[in-house]
Amino acid sequence: MKALVLNCGSSSIKYQLLDMENESVVTKGLVERIGLNGSRLKYQVGDAQYVVEQDIAGHSAGIALVLDILCKGPHKVIKSLNEIDVVGHRVTHGGELFKETVKVDAEVIEGIKKCISIAPLHNPANLAGIETCMKLIPKTPQIAVFDTAFHQQMPQKAFMYGLPYDLYKKYGIRRYGFHGTSHRYVTERTAELMGKKAEDLKLVICHLGNGASVTAVKNGHSVDTSMGFTPLDGLIMGTRCGEIDPALVGFIMEHEDMTVKQVMRYLNGQSGVLGLSGISSDFRDVEDEAIKGDERAEMAIDAFAYQVEKFIGSYVMIMDGIDALVFTAGVGENSPYVRNKVCANLSHWGTKLDKERNEHGDKPRKISTDDSKVAIYIVPTNEELMIARECKRLLGK
Ligand code: AMP
Repeated sequence: MKALVLNCGSSSIKYQLLDMENESVVTKGLVERIGLNGSRLKYQVGDAQYVVEQDIAGHSAGIALVLDILCKGPHKVIKSLNEIDVVGHRVTHGGELFKETVKVDAEVIEGIKKCISIAPLHNPANLAGIETCMKLIPKTPQIAVFDTAFHQQMPQKAFMYGLPYDLYKKYGIRRYGFHGTSHRYVTERTAELMGKKAEDLKLVICHLGNGASVTAVKNGHSVDTSMGFTPLDGLIMGTRCGEIDPALVGFIMEHEDMTVKQVMRYLNGQSGVLGLSGISSDFRDVEDEAIKGDERAEMAIDAFAYQVEKFIGSYVMIMDGIDALVFTAGVGENSPYVRNKVCANLSHWGTKLDKERNEHGDKPRKISTDDSKVAIYIVPTNEELMIARECKRLLGK
C-alpha cells in the first residue's frame, strides 16, 4: 500500500510517498514559494536530490507538479497515479468537531471550513490541498489527520480559559493544543522503546523545534499541553513570544502604535528567541553565539529552557509523577546544550541526565543514568509516518 502524505502551508507543500508494506519513504519533497518569485520544487529519490525551478501559481499547480514528478520523467517512482492508494493530509485545526482522523467527504470539508475562523492562516491552505487532490485524483481516498485531535481528550479544567463562558460557546475559545501528530507518534514510539503499552505510561513530551510545545500524556492521551487556542501560546519559540501577560497586547499596540494585524505579526514573527537574542530565530545560530559568550544569546536560550523546565514541573505534578521525559524535534533531538539546561534540576525526583549519553549516541536513545528513577529519552518525531499509519488504519489495510 502506497500513501502520499501532504502538508500544505500558505506558500509551501511538503510531501512524502511512503510504502506502507515496510514503512519506507519512496520519495519526498518540498514545493516552496508558491505564488511568489523563485518558486521551485525540491525533491529526493534515494540519496539523489533534484530541483525544478518554474512558476507555481497556487496549490493546485504545486500538487499537479508533484503528481507529475511522481509518475513521469526520469525520476518517476510509480508507473501511474493509480498506484497511490490514499492521500493523507495534515490539517492544522479540527476544533472540537474532529476528535480523530477522518475520511474526507462533503461534511468533513464543511467542518474544516468552519474551523477557518480559529485557524485563518493554516486551514485554508490545508483545504486547498484536499480540494486539489479530490479534483486531480478523484478516485483516491483522502484522509484528514488533525494536529489538534490528539489533545481532544484533555479534561475541561485543562482547556478552559478564565474568560466569560459565553466566549467558549460563541467562538470556541479554549485551549486546543497543536503538534498532536508528533506527540502521538512519540508517545507510541516511546512505549515501544520501553517495552510497555502507551495506556500504562505517564509521559512528558517536549517537542522543541522552531515551534515548540510540551505535552502531558497519560494512558496514551494528552491531558494538558502548552500551546493554546493558537500555536502562539506556551513556550518561547523561534519567533513566537509564547505565554505573556495578556495586558501586554494592548500596551504594545498603544505604545508602539500598532494595529491588531501588526501586533499579531510582531508576537508571531519578531519575538521569541529571535526577539530576545537579536541574532536569529535559528537555535543553532543562537546557541553558537551563547557558547562564544554572547550574553543576550545565552539569556535567550536560558529563558527558553527555563520555560520548558516549568512546564515539565507542572505536568509531573498534575499526573502525580511520570515514567519518562522525552525530547523530540529539531532542538529536542539535536541539542545536548538545551537538554542539559532543561534537565539541570531534576534530582529532587530521582531523575538524572547521563552526561555522556546526552552528548553522544544514535537516535532514539535513553539519555538518563541507569539508576535514574524516571527515564529520559530522545525520540525522533515522524509526523509523516504517523499520518500514513493513520491512513492505513482507517482504510483497514
Ligand atoms: P524543527 O522546527 O523541528 O525543524 O526544528 C528546527 C530548529 O532546530 C532550528 O531552530 C534549528 O536551529 C534547531 N536545530 C537543529 N539542529 C540543531 C542542533 N544540532 N543544535 C541546536 N539546534 C538545532
